Amino acid sequence: MPTTTPPAAAAAVVAQTAPLRITVWNEYRHEKTDPAAAAIYPHGIHAALADALAQIPAAVVRTATLDEPEHGLTQDVLDATDVLVWWGHAAHREVADAVVLRAQKRVLEGMGFIALHSAHHSKLFKTLMGANCSLKWREANDKERLWVVNPAHPIAAGLPEHFELEREEMYGEPFTIPEPDNVVFISWFTGGEVFRSGATWQRGNGRIFYFRPGHETYPTYHDANVRRVLANAAQWVRPTVRIPDAAPNTPPLEPLPLSA
Ligand code: ZN
Repeated sequence: MPTTTPPAAAAAVVAQTAPLRITVWNEYRHEKTDPAAAAIYPHGIHAALADALAQIPAAVVRTATLDEPEHGLTQDVLDATDVLVWWGHAAHREVADAVVLRAQKRVLEGMGFIALHSAHHSKLFKTLMGANCSLKWREANDKERLWVVNPAHPIAAGLPEHFELEREEMYGEPFTIPEPDNVVFISWFTGGEVFRSGATWQRGNGRIFYFRPGHETYPTYHDANVRRVLANAAQWVRPTVRIPDAAPNTPPLEPLPLSA
């Protein structure tokens, strides 16, 4: 007779009604050294992101930055994180490999991960993608028009068919990422380029979203549509399970006719 024993993974289900614990990680260097960035984000990009994410009902948002011990991402912090949001640019190489592997492990267990703008070249995103994640770029005050190409996706909820950012850095294809599970946004720039600016993947049990806009000298994270994308995305990548890695030797569920 078939067994009625529930699968072991059932114990790992994460309640969707629990507080959504978000950690916003920011390199936090440009805002200290570049007056243009400091003028737009006087308390750091992480503060603007945290403010946008705090609009999510039941969200508990904390921030962490590169120059904190262990970059603010201790095991205790990651254990208490459902969604990790990442902004980095000039100091990717300063992020300790041990912290990258610690965060990667949590994504594979089920933690959600949102990589923003220049985080396409962060160690954590590249590790999870297994690819170069390179692209074309230009800082020349292009207008960016983001087209919602998957209006049924929860990350696009409440957005118009397209929306514009009047000034942004250009990112252009080819973007050397693995084929996404879903492309939610495609951007067009006044210079003529296009870019897959919102894309999703799953790695292990964790959902991943990459979102392109957010150069440090433009007020992108104050834009209402961008803030809606961030809030939608954090809710979409939230964990459904937490399953630590294991490769157990396991007995059969049925008698094996040829067993010794
Ligand atoms: Zn940039």
